[in-house]
Amino acid sequence: MKVIVIGAGISGLIAAYELERAGISPILLEASDRVGGKVTTDEVDGFLLDRGFQVLLTAYPEAKRYLDFELLKLKKFDPGAIILNPGNSFTIQDPMRQPTAILGMAFSPVGTLFDKLKIFKLNRELKKKTIDEIFESQNISTISYLKEYGFSDKIIENFFKPFFKGIFLENELSTSSRMFQFVFKMFGEGFAAIPEGGMKMISEQLKEKLQQTDLRLNTAVKKIEGHQVVLENGEILQADKIIIASRPDKILAQMQGQLKPYRSVYNMYFSLEKSFLARPIIGLIPDDKFLINNLVFMTDLSKVYSKNGKALLSVSVVKNVETPASLEKLVSVELEALSGISSEYFKHIKTYKINEALPDVDDMKSNLPFTNSKIYDHIFLAGDYLLNGSINAAMTSGRKAVEAMLLTTQDRH
Ligand SMILES: Cc1cc2nc3c(=O)[nH]c(=O)nc-3n(C[C@H](O)[C@H](O)[C@H](O)COP(=O)(O)OP(=O)(O)OC[C@H]3O[C@@H](n4cnc5c(N)ncnc54)[C@H](O)[C@@H]3O)c2cc1C
Repeated sequence: MKVIVIGAGISGLIAAYELERAGISPILLEASDRVGGKVTTDEVDGFLLDRGFQVLLTAYPEAKRYLDFELLKLKKFDPGAIILNPGNSFTIQDPMRQPTAILGMAFSPVGTLFDKLKIFKLNRELKKKTIDEIFESQNISTISYLKEYGFSDKIIENFFKPFFKGIFLENELSTSSRMFQFVFKMFGEGFAAIPEGGMKMISEQLKEKLQQTDLRLNTAVKKIEGHQVVLENGEILQADKIIIASRPDKILAQMQGQLKPYRSVYNMYFSLEKSFLARPIIGLIPDDKFLINNLVFMTDLSKVYSKNGKALLSVSVVKNVETPASLEKLVSVELEALSGISSEYFKHIKTYKINEALPDVDDMKSNLPFTNSKIYDHIFLAGDYLLNGSINAAMTSGRKAVEAMLLTTQDRH
């Protein structure tokens, strides 16, 4: 059976791997010069720059299934966060993994004692819930969920908003409470981490697992017509089955206009002589007047991110910026306000604007019935947008597309 997978992001790599496990040698077509899609890293001026600040949560069930964490040499974040305000910064200990730590901070400025007890309760409840139960639960916005749960405005503004804005890449916490519960559970049951040599190590490890796949880089698909895959270079490939692990609306006429707009983010990199956090921890900026939502010194996690001994700072801006030209200047002024270090010491390396960072999914799920992967007898879909925007979901979707394909193929014989 001739199977073509379109797109070698995480979902396409998993689809190819699962096809190989079923004894099929697929062709994997990738438009860009590398595998990994959104999970990739560039090397610029001796620094490793992940294209968009991302973390791997070690509790992701799919990551445990497909990745060898030891080979990735994972570097873990300290749990919790540093809340950065000009002249008034403080640390929140481990709220999601070890709520007792936050209970100990009875008089910390992050929230009320009541909030801390609620965090403790939420943590215990989510430990007991399965991921499927979470994704079958009521679908309301995260902000409504937090308010209904009884959290105070103080803890919402100080912690939940800046932390989850950086994960959901939107400012209102309008993202489904299912995703909030899922992420909270994942943080509670494992660690946030990055591979020593950049997020691209994840994609490269998945590529290494492929033995029978004909991977073709720099090979963009223009459209699909019946069983024909038409490439941008004019070549036409014939397939028995096709798995689309890229945006289907761009290559399948019937799917045009069917995907919602994606969420975007600016990810900016600066170098500095030394880290002003000096800890592998995320810094959150709760003040809405700031452009910066969160920042991390990547070199506090992994020295490999810098070849020249300088510190590498990653800054995320979730807000819509009207004048991106002045972004670099504005952000370095904010860095000065937050750190007390003169803005001239922050050397700008590169800014990424990631337009299609996360899919905006109304009905977030953790699992796919095969009817959702299959759109025609011979065409199947994979990609995070089918479930929720995460590495875990991208992996699930790749496997489910292959399962749907095998199931419907077997039915026929
Ligand atoms: C800034 C940012 C932060 C994130 N943070 C996290 C995080 O902390 N934790 C987490 O778990 N997830 C995070 N994510 C989400 C995660 O990275 C994605 O959910 C996942 O990588 C999506 O994989 P995918 O295979 O569905 O899609 P993609 O990665 O988009 O893969 C699609 C592939 O198809 C290729 N392609 C496109 N069109 C064509 C064509 N016409 N022909 C051939 N090939 C084509 C593309 O080049 C790409 O390689 C983040 C994402 C971003 C961008």
